[in-house]
Formats: sequence, C-alpha cells, structure tokens
Amino acid sequence: MKKVFIDTMGCQMNKSDTERMLGILSCLDYEETKEPKEADLLIVNTCSIRQLSEDKAFSMLGLWGKWKSEGKKIKIGLCGCVAQQKAEKTFRRAPYVDFVLGTHKIYSLPEIIKRAEAGERVCECTETNATEDDKAAEFPIHRVKSVNAWIPITEGCNNFCTYCIVPYTRGRERSRQPEIIIKEVKDALNQGFKEITLLGQNVDSYGKDFKDKNYRLAQLLRDINSLDGNFRIRFVTSYPTDITDELIETVVELDKVCEYFHIPMQSGSSVVLKAMNRRYDRDTYKKIVEKVRKMVPDVTITSDFIAGFPGETEEQFQETLSAIDEFELDYSNTAAYSPREKTIAAKWVDKYIDEDIKTERLARLNEKVRENCLKSNLKFVGREMEILVEDFENHKGQNVITGRARNNKIVHVPCEKDLTGEFVNVKITGAKTWYLQGELI
Ligand code: SF4
Repeated sequence: MKKVFIDTMGCQMNKSDTERMLGILSCLDYEETKEPKEADLLIVNTCSIRQLSEDKAFSMLGLWGKWKSEGKKIKIGLCGCVAQQKAEKTFRRAPYVDFVLGTHKIYSLPEIIKRAEAGERVCECTETNATEDDKAAEFPIHRVKSVNAWIPITEGCNNFCTYCIVPYTRGRERSRQPEIIIKEVKDALNQGFKEITLLGQNVDSYGKDFKDKNYRLAQLLRDINSLDGNFRIRFVTSYPTDITDELIETVVELDKVCEYFHIPMQSGSSVVLKAMNRRYDRDTYKKIVEKVRKMVPDVTITSDFIAGFPGETEEQFQETLSAIDEFELDYSNTAAYSPREKTIAAKWVDKYIDEDIKTERLARLNEKVRENCLKSNLKFVGREMEILVEDFENHKGQNVITGRARNNKIVHVPCEKDLTGEFVNVKITGAKTWYLQGELI
C-alpha cells in the first residue's frame, strides 16, 4: 500500500473535505500517514481566509519540492481554497507541484492522481453549480476518530460579505440532497459517533435552492432526530437574518438537537456592518439574539468578530466591545481584518487601519471575549449538566475526563475511568475562563 500525508488548514469544512479525500484515496490503495517523510503522496488542503495560511501552504510545498529535487519519488498536490483561487498560477510559483485541485470537484481525485502518476501536470479548478452528491455514495469517508462527525449540508455562499473570499473559492450556495446527508448520518452513527454537526457557511438557508421540494433545515433536523440511537445534533454556522421562528421552535421541540447557536455578528457598529454588506444592523442582531434566548432555555450563543475593518473608527470598534457585553455573548472567535484578493474591501486601501492599531484592537477584543466567557461560565456553577465525554487524560497527576454539555460548554471532571463516547451527568463545581469544572453524580 502507498502512503498519503495530508496537511489540513483552516476551517471544519476543510477538515471534512480531507476526510472525504482520505476515503477516496483508500479506494486507490493509499493509507494515511502522519509522517510526511514516509509519504508517496503529499497534499496540502488549504484555507485562504487569511494570508498567513496561504504563505504557510506555499512554504510547505517548497519544503516538499526540495525533497523531490533531492531525488525523493513523491507526488505533490495543492487542494482547497488557495488551489481554487490560484489554479494554473500555482505551477509558476511552485513548479514541483504535480496537481492542483479546487474545492468543487473533490471526487475527480482518482482521475487526477492517475494522470499525475503518469507524469502529467494536472489542474482541476472548474467551478460548478452542482454538488457532488451523485459521487459521494460511491466512496467511504475516512473520519477522524472522535465522538463528533461533521457532515456538510451546504457548500458555498451567496452573501458576498465585502471582506470574505468564500463565495470566490467555494462558489455559490448549493444544498446537498437530504437522502445523501441522512445516509452519511446513519453511517457515522453505525461507526459509533455520538454527535452529528451539520455544517455549512450558512446552514439556515439550507434547501432554499431546491426547485423540486420545500425542504429546509428544520425538516432535516426532524428527520435526523427521528433516527434511532442516543446521539446529539448540532448545526453551524447561522446567518443572523436567516434564523426562522420555525427553526428556533424545532431546536426547542427536538430532544437530540442541542441548545447552541453560532451567530456571527462581525461588528457591533451598524455603519461597519453596512460596509461589510451584512444584511442586518445592530438592533436587528439584538432582536434575533433576544428571541433565541427567550425561546431556548439555557442556550449558548457564540459569535465571530473582526477588529480593524477598513475605515473602522475607535468609536465603532467600541460598539463591538459593548455588543459583546450587551448581548451577553458566551464566546466569540476573533480576527484582525486581513485583506483577501478579489474581495471588495481589499480595494479600500486608503481606509486600511494601521497594523499597530489593528493588533491593539484585537488584544482588547480578546480581553472582552475572555471576560464574557468567564461571566457566562460562572452562571452554571452549582448546576447539573449532561456531558458527552470526548477525552480522557492525566493532567498533573490526576485522571480527568473532558466533555461537552448540550450548550457546547467544555467541562473537566476528575475520573479514574476512560468514559470517552459516553453521556454522563455531572455537577458543576467551578468555572474558569474557557471551561467548567465538575464532579460525577
Ligand atoms: S456569510 Fe459572508 S462571511 Fe460567511 S461565508 Fe458567506 S460571504 Fe463569507
């Protein structure tokens, strides 16, 4: 058997693509290795959300190219968002690359590998308006051993936020067929996974593009919830104004669907939100969060924010800090603005914020997130929660299990036995910034 090494960068969508690629490659007699030096095939599955990941990808390709020039018999591939963006140009910058595979045609991999092994240099970055559902059933998925299986339900995005590269690298939004998704869920449950996370850039708009049926995320959740077994269901990411009352009611009504919403706000300032081409203002976001909190008991709401968007004033940045407080956001991912080629905001060079100011704002933003995360965690001290155990390790001489509550809070519990994959009830005894402490009950 030949060996393949895949370095996966960025988001969960990329990790999911890698699991699919490994499944396809297993049908071509490749087995995964975690050691690049022993691989016959080396692939970097890239993310282009930030310039840093792109630079890292090319530096890794450079290292592998050096191994090739020293006589190592290897094939090198560039996949993912950077591949989709750079396409043929990759060969000028990294001539040792054998194939470039974009985000739209993962299932072309067998054909591409065959041609690359025959000595051809191959580039497959054509954009399509269809999903690859027709091919998905033919190949296994090589899932990372864990309790949580990530299953894409939509690909691409139609929103064109002015800072975001996704619509250019992953194309327009396409919903996967429910029967294919449900089959993948059943396969994952049969393999022992206990939590299913439905994945998409904008999961709430799932099904909008179906011409032949009225089938939306709420219905998909109902159909998955009705499957046998003790498991949980989550979905990410939600676009604020696409969260319908029906969806919120479904979360409340279905026992397996967890009380957790990830609703990126991006900025607390309505002026900046408009410049970002987000389809809501501060007040609309506030109403959505309030509604979710009112309807879903014990819900956790997390968000994403960008510091230093072009033109952002100090006052507008402070509106972001106050939004985190006012809406009691439980946790937020943060990033300093990074211009991405092709996007509208990248052209606003005269409005770019100085790197020093961006770094300083990001530090203040992170501090605010930390503060609110601790505040949110403290609310649960003394409560009883069910956790799904994800890990067992010895920490400073003590055996500890780590699990996730339904609302996505991480809980550490002293325990002598490895209970990974089991649901256990715990009492919360303490709160730290990023996790809760508990004891078995
Ligand atoms: S909603 Fe906006 S930020 Fe999210 S993937 Fe789509 S374009 Fe990008």
